[in-house]
Amino acid sequence: MDMSVFDLFKIGIGPSSSHTVGPMVAARRFLVENSPLDSVVEVEAELFGSLALTGVGHGTDKAVILGLMGETPQGVNPHAVNQMLASAEEAKELKLLGEKTVPFTAAANLIFHKTENLPEHPNGMRFTLKRADGDTVRKVYYSVGGGFIRAEGEQAATNGAPKVEIPYPFDTMADLLAHGQRTGLSIPQMLRANELTRVSEAELDAGLDRIWNVMRDCIQHGLETDGQLPGGLHVKRRAASLWRQAQKPDRADHLPHDALNGVSLYAMAVNEENAAGGRVVTAPTNGAAGIIPAVLKYYAEDCKPLDPVSGVRVFLLTAAAIGMLCKRNASISGAEIGCQGEVGVACAMAAAGLVAALGGSNLQIENAAEIGIEHHLGMTCDPIGGLVQIPCIERNGMGAVKAITAASLALKGDGTHFVSLDEVIETMRQTGADMQAKYKETSLGGLAVHVVTVNHPAC
Ligand code: SF4
Repeated sequence: MDMSVFDLFKIGIGPSSSHTVGPMVAARRFLVENSPLDSVVEVEAELFGSLALTGVGHGTDKAVILGLMGETPQGVNPHAVNQMLASAEEAKELKLLGEKTVPFTAAANLIFHKTENLPEHPNGMRFTLKRADGDTVRKVYYSVGGGFIRAEGEQAATNGAPKVEIPYPFDTMADLLAHGQRTGLSIPQMLRANELTRVSEAELDAGLDRIWNVMRDCIQHGLETDGQLPGGLHVKRRAASLWRQAQKPDRADHLPHDALNGVSLYAMAVNEENAAGGRVVTAPTNGAAGIIPAVLKYYAEDCKPLDPVSGVRVFLLTAAAIGMLCKRNASISGAEIGCQGEVGVACAMAAAGLVAALGGSNLQIENAAEIGIEHHLGMTCDPIGGLVQIPCIERNGMGAVKAITAASLALKGDGTHFVSLDEVIETMRQTGADMQAKYKETSLGGLAVHVVTVNHPAC
């Protein structure tokens, strides 16, 4: 498995890993691969399939322009984005990678092919640049989910890092369980050993802690921010007001399940931040970015662990193992297999992470992840208005609660169960392959059609 925990958890901006983060990375990579840029006179970007159909709602157009300017998802200042884009549009030109200025307007140089797909994936992009001597370079990239991209013909999505030999290679959960049985190591211990072939112990821990800090800041900001989400649906942010309501000490209606309501609000807070284009961590995607932070906060605060710092690291490493298996053997792209691959996978990752952090066995971790996916099988992706808002925000709240239930069920058992994680991942892959395209991040089916046409004709 040539993937790192830092591929699964990437610090970036909302609203979408496949439709915002990936396209920004691809646009930048195209120019970097074709540098120097002094002789470039024109650049064009074309979006196909799901990127064209839901791209405006997902911010793909903005992301591509920012990528051409040289911005990265982790480096761009989310608060400066609108001003940067407005200035470029007003000047009718772009400074490519901050080096070379060419004429550019979104209307003329950014083309949406809504009825056309490129052959290798529903999220296709084609970039073209022309040089002063008439030379033209054209290249296709695919955004394959979770911010991963690959160029046309490339075998696997790449993070650009050289391949390394890892001590515990795995393609399936059966491989990981077998390593564990042979060595007596836990899943997070094996993931840690694999990561240490790429980075030092101090770098690994600092990286994991940074991910958790960004997730925690994102929850906090979401719980403090009222107002309306952008995009035209006029969706009101709810996490902050519901959180204030939940904090009133004299509330007469406090109920035992309030702790779970809190978890839903943590998740919704993250996804409201994501929908507003804020700073989030893909986990494993932006659309599903609320579930893991919410369950982590529940673990670190409500479960009152003795050593939350180590526990959070164990949680993230374990969750990453599940994400890697889902990405490798099915998909984490809503455009490829529907929302089961985003919210379903995030739920499984969070459930497994929570079990590991609470001291569960490898078999219990596997069981929790399997439950997390099993009860999302078949879930479609049908975002209203092409925005990552409805059903996505609430869906993360529900996914977080399901993850805690899955972890609880697994921890109460001995790890033996009927359906294996590997089997449920393969079932998810096949279900996604059988799903009609209109349910796979195209906004051509489901809620996206019925609610928009009935209640929101302007969307
Ligand atoms: S419905 Fe699910 S897969 Fe689709 S955009 Fe929303 S969170 Fe992502």
